[in-house]
Amino acid sequence: MSCDGNCGSCASGCGKPKQQEVHPSGQCAEDKCGSCPSKGKCGSSMNSAPSEQNLRIAKSLQNFGHVILVLSGKGGVGKSTVSTQLAFYLSEKMDKKVGLMDVDVCGPSIPTMTNTVGAQVHGSADGWAPIGVTDNLQTVSIGFMLEKTDDAVIMRGPKKHSLIAQFLSEVDWDVKQEEFDRNYLIIDTPPGTTDEHLSVINLITQCSALITDNRPEVFSVIVSTPQEVALSDVRKEINFCAKINLTVRGVIENMSGFVCPCCNKETQIFSPTSGGCKKLCEEYKLKFLGRIPMDPLLTRAAEDGVMWGQLTETSLGLDMFKKVVESILE
Ligand code: ADP
Repeated sequence: MSCDGNCGSCASGCGKPKQQEVHPSGQCAEDKCGSCPSKGKCGSSMNSAPSEQNLRIAKSLQNFGHVILVLSGKGGVGKSTVSTQLAFYLSEKMDKKVGLMDVDVCGPSIPTMTNTVGAQVHGSADGWAPIGVTDNLQTVSIGFMLEKTDDAVIMRGPKKHSLIAQFLSEVDWDVKQEEFDRNYLIIDTPPGTTDEHLSVINLITQCSALITDNRPEVFSVIVSTPQEVALSDVRKEINFCAKINLTVRGVIENMSGFVCPCCNKETQIFSPTSGGCKKLCEEYKLKFLGRIPMDPLLTRAAEDGVMWGQLTETSLGLDMFKKVVESILE
């Protein structure tokens, strides 16, 4: 049987060792072209000259020392809350320069959670000017491009891909390349393993491979609640990350108990029947990044679009959140 060398889609079962590893998106895995017999033949974008847009993405990524993708298996577990509060904490408490990118195209929460609803993205000298939240924090979301805040976003995969590519290539973040290590790009994603994940992760992986020096460290953190219903989706998320070669820094257990502000007694509202995130991390040899309890002040901070610490100087939940941030940065 003749072989075109493209094992990825071949069902012949010819017994030859697979010649290349293929991403779920159909594109070759990074660094595999070198010895691949299909090099230059399979049509992978890895083999051709990088597009103008990919070069722009690489140029933009070169400014960020750290790219953090916040993922969750399920919706409603606190992913956007964690993304936003992490962005606030890094920018306000640790004097980092932060870009917060919302790639939850169909359900953007970042405008509400940063109190920027109604703001509109405008053109700048060198692309799109992101929305300023504070001196050190800027954000971009499809929410800033809608005519009316409540407009439904109905997009198929290719359109979402093109929007995400534009977010990565066109946004003119107020960050200096000399301060590379101070600059963080935090990406809030939709729940699950969707087109948006594949687009953003493939673009970041491919385009950071074009950077020769000042390559950002790229990793994900996964947010879950302690119930098995949420954890079973986290397992899928972890397997997805492994398939697409995305480092998982660890798992955060959110809504992990409720500490009564009156008597300081902790109640497990969402009981960790199967051992919660800690046990799951042991199973998968991942870092357990810590717990964030339910806190009505955190709900309010998310509703008002402010930093949690702005509403309370000290609280058990806030202390636990600080530990989570330290654990992410370690
Ligand atoms: P996701 O992005 O995973 O869909 P969100 O971040 O939108 O979830 O959170 C859903 C709701 O739960 C929001 O109203 C948010 O303020 C609230 N919330 C999330 N985590 C906590 C927490 N630890 N304590 C109190 N409220 C929380």
